Amino acid sequence: MKVGIIGVGTVGAATAMAMVLRARAREIVLVDANRARAKAVATDMHYGVPLSPLVSITDGDYADLGGAGLAIICAGVNEKAGGATDRSDPAGRLRLLEPNVKVFQDIVPKLVKVAPKAVILIATNPPEPLVEITRHLAGHDRVLSTSTTLDSLRFRLHLSERLKVSPQSVEAYVVGEHGTFSVLLWSSARIGGMPVAELLARRGLRLDEFRQSIERDVRYANITIIEGIGASQYGIGMVAGRIAEVVLRDEQAVYPVGAHNPRYGVALSLPSVIGRAGVSEVLWPEMSADETAGVEKSAERLKEVVATYLK
Ligand code: NAD
Repeated sequence: MKVGIIGVGTVGAATAMAMVLRARAREIVLVDANRARAKAVATDMHYGVPLSPLVSITDGDYADLGGAGLAIICAGVNEKAGGATDRSDPAGRLRLLEPNVKVFQDIVPKLVKVAPKAVILIATNPPEPLVEITRHLAGHDRVLSTSTTLDSLRFRLHLSERLKVSPQSVEAYVVGEHGTFSVLLWSSARIGGMPVAELLARRGLRLDEFRQSIERDVRYANITIIEGIGASQYGIGMVAGRIAEVVLRDEQAVYPVGAHNPRYGVALSLPSVIGRAGVSEVLWPEMSADETAGVEKSAERLKEVVATYLK
């Protein structure tokens, strides 16, 4: 299957790299407003192809995306350039919505014209509002975003490191929105089927202290990375590469991704079944009353924010 990556800055390049290494696509086309950049990234990775299973990676224009089954959009203003790196700013990544709606208004109609059947996977921030904007611009519903998959990996990692178990053995989700108001589902976090709260009590650890420090580390992980290397990129590249693989292989795997949620009338990030046509079913994990209220609050805010663009 042909895959297009639109926007080949730090995130798009990391996504392309993850995809070349996973080698599930036969053809990857890189499109960027800065064609020279797309060409350089494609050329650089092309020279590594003899070491990977056969994949063609080239730069291109929209015409070269004809027949693509999946398009990954990573184009747009990032946190550093868009002034969204202040930990005390409640708007967080929502600051990037206005400039990035403009970018999507440019990209999505051109994409849909040449690849009307492509599933669209969004990594650009803020992902849930951009799912709604993209559905509207594309006129179809095969739109999903990486959303809280990355936050959930961060949650699993921090739990695993503090509790000294492998992250693969931790089941824990972050839901709602990829951002400051994401909801960490402590009530359903499990290790070997045992609730994390029970494991902490057994080890004599206090849940409230443990919880505060993990929530801070998960919510602001991107800013710590941006302070060091200017942009959060490799983790999201690995996530986008993995979700692309799920679509390409029609895996029906479950990840917390952003998709339109009819119950709330807006896109939210929840564990969802993903395959060749995008999201086929949105699940509702076990949640406490507070966690449910957190998701509902996110939904209200996101709906309000999106409405200003879809009038
Ligand atoms: P970047 O500035 O390095 O790259 C952006 C690229 O988009 C540039 O190459 C630019 O030329 C291209 N572009 C801009 N407008 C375009 C258009 N109309 N058509 C085609 N290409 C266009 O930024 P980045 O660090 O790669 O970040 C990209 C986006 O990903 C940002 O919104 C950032 O916040 C987001 N991001 C998301 C996550 C996540 O977890 N979902 C993590 C990190 C970054």
